Amino acid sequence: MSTLAYIAIGSNLANPLNQVLSAFHEITYLPKSKLIKKSSCYTSSPLGYKDQPDFINAVVLIETDLSPHQLLLELQMIELSHQRERSFLNAPRTLDLDILLYGDIKLNEPRLIIPHPRMHERAFVIFPLQEINENISIPLIGDIAKIAKELDPKNTMRITL
Ligand code: AMP
Repeated sequence: MSTLAYIAIGSNLANPLNQVLSAFHEITYLPKSKLIKKSSCYTSSPLGYKDQPDFINAVVLIETDLSPHQLLLELQMIELSHQRERSFLNAPRTLDLDILLYGDIKLNEPRLIIPHPRMHERAFVIFPLQEINENISIPLIGDIAKIAKELDPKNTMRITL
């Protein structure tokens, strides 16, 4: 049976907007999956290490027959194809793809934590997620409207293309 999964996309290197638009395209070709919705793109200032360019972020909803681990592997292959190198925590990145939610599953493994553990603290995840599902409730965390209200909107802006 297919499962609905939400994926966060982020980039702040090598023409970030193009990176995100091409990730939309590549997600369309994930095996055993169908792209259902994509959010607008947003700009956000970096967290943690500040001396790096702003990010472009978005969220997509897919319907998939891949398991969570298969999906993670597929997303990591897309990241690799964008020449992503993992240098240090919060470093600039050409493409970052995170599984936010996979149905209502809860996983807490060294390689895969779902719901994504920091998603509710990040306006650049929560705002695009809310745009594509304003009624979603995040397991263990709560309703998106309440979470969104608690976030600072200052550094995350929707882009009209
Ligand atoms: P990052 O450098 O932020 O892309 O983190 C990548 C690492 O986070 C990978 O080694 C994944 O195994 C791990 N990880 C844990 N939970 C998740 C998740 N929900 N989505 C994507 N990666 C995850």
